[in-house]
Amino acid sequence: MEFSINEEQQAFMKSVFNFSKNEIYPLMEEFEKKGEFCWEAWKKMGEFGMMALPFPEEYGGANAGVLTTCLGMEALTRGGASGGLTLSWGAHTILCGVPIWLIGNEEQKKKYLPGIASGEKLGGFGLTEPNAGSDAASVQTTAVKKGDKYILNGTKMFITNGPIASQFVVIAVTDKKAGHFGISAFIVDADAPGFSIGKELDKMGNRTSTTSELIFEDCEVPAANLLGPEGMGFVVVGKTILEYERSCLLAAGLGGMENTLDESIKYAKERVQFNRPIAQFQAIQEKIANMKIAVEGARMALYRVAWMKDNNIPAMLEACLAKLFMSEVGLKVADDGVQIHGGYGYMREYPVERNYRDVKLGTIGAGTSEVQRQVIGKMLLKTKKKGAK
Ligand SMILES: Cc1cc2nc3c(=O)[nH]c(=O)nc-3n(C[C@H](O)[C@H](O)[C@H](O)COP(=O)(O)OP(=O)(O)OC[C@H]3O[C@@H](n4cnc5c(N)ncnc54)[C@H](O)[C@@H]3O)c2cc1C
Repeated sequence: MEFSINEEQQAFMKSVFNFSKNEIYPLMEEFEKKGEFCWEAWKKMGEFGMMALPFPEEYGGANAGVLTTCLGMEALTRGGASGGLTLSWGAHTILCGVPIWLIGNEEQKKKYLPGIASGEKLGGFGLTEPNAGSDAASVQTTAVKKGDKYILNGTKMFITNGPIASQFVVIAVTDKKAGHFGISAFIVDADAPGFSIGKELDKMGNRTSTTSELIFEDCEVPAANLLGPEGMGFVVVGKTILEYERSCLLAAGLGGMENTLDESIKYAKERVQFNRPIAQFQAIQEKIANMKIAVEGARMALYRVAWMKDNNIPAMLEACLAKLFMSEVGLKVADDGVQIHGGYGYMREYPVERNYRDVKLGTIGAGTSEVQRQVIGKMLLKTKKKGAK
């Protein structure tokens, strides 16, 4: 069993960390306060190659593999990139780019992937609806074929990059009677007739990513933009995105935990109370130790999923375990980080405050903790019905 990452990967992480610390982190505070997406940081990330990581070179990608993509995202947040920025990266790269790469036909890949890999054409993913969250199979947005077009009607909710993306992968019902196999995926351009951006949503955390409703009113989508076979939208979601999402996006969460730990160690050594650095108090040492245990456990869980994906081993169970574990220990790490900083940790100018607000999304987005536990339980007990979620 090999636990180390190679020298090239270590050098890559170091360069991403330094890039993030010097070029991205200084921009974060202002945009976090404003609750705005930072195009300057996005452009820099594109030039640095962060959006190109998973894709093949022929489409402008870096062919980095899953583990190296994870290491890059980990280093980016450890260096101080906000959760919001990496959430936008995830919606763009993993939720929009990966299904086009893995399921799209040659024409779709040539048309969309170069802009996604460079970061110039921001992407998003529309599955969730006002009345369909955890129960994703109950989506109501419809897509009816008329000649060489599909006509989409419905509303999507909580869509990351909604107000600013150029294209979305959108999930809609093409055959109501066919259940899971009546749901299809489409690539929808933001300038498609009948498409509009709904209400922009103000969030607790991840404030440097934008979130909105998407509205489809007789929205015309060329039939050529059907992604994969009709009726296979759930396969698009299940088989291609989830394992990627639960590794590459979680990597940003791991980096956030490491950032909180780094900041807390630094602060504990600097902050003096009762004539000594608070690092000398056993209660603080215990918190630091617990944070490190969580970080290393999360790292093992995450790297295993990434390694399995790189070796073409199905990793659905491991990805669910990693997602659940990391998002829940992440909450505790963020809490300890604020606690170690005392009153200063409650103040906006400290990164631990932002990490604390950002991390809560982990137990909600991409499958809530409750649903993860159910899915894991079903997988272990083999109670899952054929064709069910
Ligand atoms: C900031 C943000 C960004 C997002 N970005 C996107 C995006 O880009 N694209 C997209 O499609 N979606 C996105 N989402 C949506 C996200 O994936 C959903 O919020 C999530 O799947 C949960 O759905 P819900 O919010 O409707 O909660 P619900 O499903 O209504 O859940 C409410 C509560 O009920 C519990 N619950 C539900 N069903 C069960 C059950 N069977 N057993 C036990 N408990 C249950 C849940 O665990 C939860 O505690 C985003 C959400 C947020 C907050």
